[in-house]
Amino acid sequence: MSKSKNYKSLRTVVVTLLIVFVLIMNQYGSARDKETSSTSLPSGVIEVHFIDVGQGDSILIETKDSAMLIDAGENDKGIDVVNYLQLQNIQKLDYLVGTHPHSDHIGGLDDVLNSFPVDKVLLPDVANNTATFEEVLDTLDKKNLKITKTEVGDQYSFGDATFTILSPASPYDDMNDNSLVIKLNFGKNSFLFTGDAEKPAEIDMLAGAFDLSADVLKIGHHGSESSTSRDFLAAVNPTYAVICVGTNNDYGHPKEETLRRIKEQGVKLYRTDMQGTIVFTSNGKNISVNTKDYDITDEDLED
Ligand SMILES: [Zn+2]
Repeated sequence: MSKSKNYKSLRTVVVTLLIVFVLIMNQYGSARDKETSSTSLPSGVIEVHFIDVGQGDSILIETKDSAMLIDAGENDKGIDVVNYLQLQNIQKLDYLVGTHPHSDHIGGLDDVLNSFPVDKVLLPDVANNTATFEEVLDTLDKKNLKITKTEVGDQYSFGDATFTILSPASPYDDMNDNSLVIKLNFGKNSFLFTGDAEKPAEIDMLAGAFDLSADVLKIGHHGSESSTSRDFLAAVNPTYAVICVGTNNDYGHPKEETLRRIKEQGVKLYRTDMQGTIVFTSNGKNISVNTKDYDITDEDLED
């Protein structure tokens, strides 16, 4: 072999190695890009349905392959909730949450348990001496389901979303304060569900270690004046708020003071008594709302 031939084949080897190297680096780079984009933005969308159950709460959360229900309204609303879930083509629930054992939250849970397979049932670690609560426990027994005990800071995965328990840190005297408070994260968007938690629970959450900020806040205790304190609202700093409340309810919910605080903070408010069922859709970056329009009017703020 001549010297120049030797040189030529060496050059071919070097050039080939260089091309292979560049190809491998490109491949590696695009794999890494894919990884970063998938961690910053989830695939698909998440839907959060604030179902109109009159005076009470019921919230359905749906992603591609997962579903979760927080509360199911009063006893006589259970079948309405079941029908709503069936209309949404829900086959099973990954999580069924009863925020606290008051009938306007857990009343319909037995109907839901009798109609759908449920993976995990979350309830706060408090009992209530009522027929409604007994019905829920009996149905759980019948279905061989155990209550999953939660602690502040516990995190659960839910499709491409995660949710964290923010309250109760310890048992409170007032049952409303024992509400499970849940923050749901989906990409860059977040939702805060507060059950009927009132000021004592809000104060503890404000003193706690968790970031309370959320794009959407389910206003505590149907807009009662004892929830949604100014400090709590400022810490959550939501773009949207939802009050789950019945028309002409016996409690005068929502209270004028609460509406005023929400208006002063510049939060866009939705109400199930005015607008029926309200559906939020997030793609992990942007949120859209599907319902009738409503604005806080001066009439709402009159005594
Ligand atoms: Zn309630």
